[in-house]
Amino acid sequence: MAIEKVLIANRGEIALRIHRACHEMGIKTVAVHSTADAQAKHVILADEAVCIGPPSATESYLNIPNIISAAEISGADAIHPGYGFLSENEKFASIVEDHEIIWIGPKPEHIRVMGDKVEAKKTAGALGLPLVPGSDGAVRDIGEAQKIAAEIGYPLIVKAASGGGGRGMKVVPSADKLETLMRQAGSEAKSAFGDDTVYLEKYLGNPRHIEFQIFGDGKGNAIHLGERDCSLQRRHQKVLEEAPGPTITPEERTRMGDICAKAMADMGYRGAGTIEFLYEDGGFYFIEMNTRLQVEHPITEMITGVDLVREQIQIAAGEPLSVRQEDISFRGHAIECRINAEHPETFAPSPGKVTNYHPAGGMHVRVDSGLYSGYSIPPYYDSMIAKLIVFGSNRERCIMRLRRALEEMVIEGVQTTIPLHQALVDDPEFRAGDYTIKWLEEWLAKRAAEKPTD
Ligand code: ADP
Repeated sequence: MAIEKVLIANRGEIALRIHRACHEMGIKTVAVHSTADAQAKHVILADEAVCIGPPSATESYLNIPNIISAAEISGADAIHPGYGFLSENEKFASIVEDHEIIWIGPKPEHIRVMGDKVEAKKTAGALGLPLVPGSDGAVRDIGEAQKIAAEIGYPLIVKAASGGGGRGMKVVPSADKLETLMRQAGSEAKSAFGDDTVYLEKYLGNPRHIEFQIFGDGKGNAIHLGERDCSLQRRHQKVLEEAPGPTITPEERTRMGDICAKAMADMGYRGAGTIEFLYEDGGFYFIEMNTRLQVEHPITEMITGVDLVREQIQIAAGEPLSVRQEDISFRGHAIECRINAEHPETFAPSPGKVTNYHPAGGMHVRVDSGLYSGYSIPPYYDSMIAKLIVFGSNRERCIMRLRRALEEMVIEGVQTTIPLHQALVDDPEFRAGDYTIKWLEEWLAKRAAEKPTD
C-alpha cells in the first residue's frame, strides 16, 4: 500500500512539517486551505492546493465533505490530519477509510474510546496504567458522589466525561460545596459539549505534567520514545516543553515507558499517541491520551533522532515500525518554546502583517513556522506562529543555546511572546528545573504585580 500523494488537512507550521516529511519520502502533497490562507507557506510549497472554504474553520478546516472532495479531485491516497481540527474526530477518520483513502492516524475505534474521558480512564485502568484515584466511571447523583467523595477525600475535582481544554472541571475543597459544584460542572459541560456526564477524581495539589510518546504498528507491537515535561502552562495551554523531564530518572522512564508501550501493544494501537500523566511524589497518574501527533513532538525527535511524522506515514502504509525499543536511546536535552502572536504580558492576540522575519539558526536550532517577511497572520485561527526547538548535550547547554536563539529571532510587525520566553529562561527556578503545573501562572501574577505602573 504505497502512499504517493498525501492530502494535508491542516494549516500553519504543522501543515509545513507534514509537507516536509512527505517530500523527504518522495511523496507528493496536496494542501487544502481557507480563503484566508491562500498565501500560506505550506500552500505555496505543496504540489497542489485546493481551496475548501471561507476563513471560518467550521466552513473550511472542519468541513468534512469539502476535504473529502478535495482528496478525490486531487487523487490523494492518504490524509494526514495534523493536530487540532479533525485529528481526533472519529467520524472523519471513519469517513476517510470508507472512501478507501488511507487515514494517517489511529483506528477510529481507538480515537472514540480515548475521546471519552470516562471510557478512556476505564480502558487505561484495564490496560494497567496507574490512575488518579476517583469514581469508577460516571457519577449519576449527589448521593453516589458523596459516598465516593468520602472515600477519596477532599479536595477533589469534578470532571466532564466529554470535557476538553480545561472546561467542565471544578475543584471541590470540601463536602459542603460538592453538590453545587457538581451541578455547575454538569451544566457547563452540557452547554459546551452537549453531555452532562461527570466523574470524580482526587485533586493533586502540586503535580507536574509528564507525557509519554508512544507508537504502535496496529498489529500488536508498540514502543515508547520517552517522556516530555509540559508543566509550564497558562490556562491549561502549554507554553514551553522539555525532554527529558528534568526530574525523571532513567529508571522511571524505562519503567513507565514500558508500561505505556505494553498497554498500547495489548490494545493493538496504530500510529502516534501520547499518554498524559500527572506526576507527584514519585507517582504517575493517567489523565488522558491524545490519539494524534502533538505540537511538542519535535523535542522527542531531537533527543531520539526518530522522525515521528515519517514513522506515522510508514505505519499508515502498513509497514512495520522502523525502530525497535532497543534501538532507541536518549541523547542530550531539548526544549521547545511556543511563540504566539500575542502581547507578551496581556496575551491579547496580535494578528497582522509580519514586516520582517529572521528565524534563529546555528547548530541544533530548529524553527518550525510558516512565517515569512510580508506574510499576514490571519486573525481567525490559533495564535501560535512559530516553535523554536533547541538541542543541547545537557540541560544547561540547551538553556544557554535557547537564550542565544531567542536573542536572534526577529519577528517584526506583530507582538510576540518572545520576551516572555526570554524572561522565563533567565529565571533561577526555571533554570533549576524546579516547577510544577501551577508555577507559571504564579510567576506571571508575580511579574504583573511587580511591574511599575506609570
Ligand atoms: P482537558 O482535557 O480539559 O485538558 P485534563 O484532564 O487533561 O483536561 O486536565 C487538564 C489539566 O487540569 C491538567 O493538565 C492539570 O493541570 C489539571 N488537572 C486535571 N486533573 C487533575 C487532578 N486530578 N488534580 C489536579 N489537577 C488536575
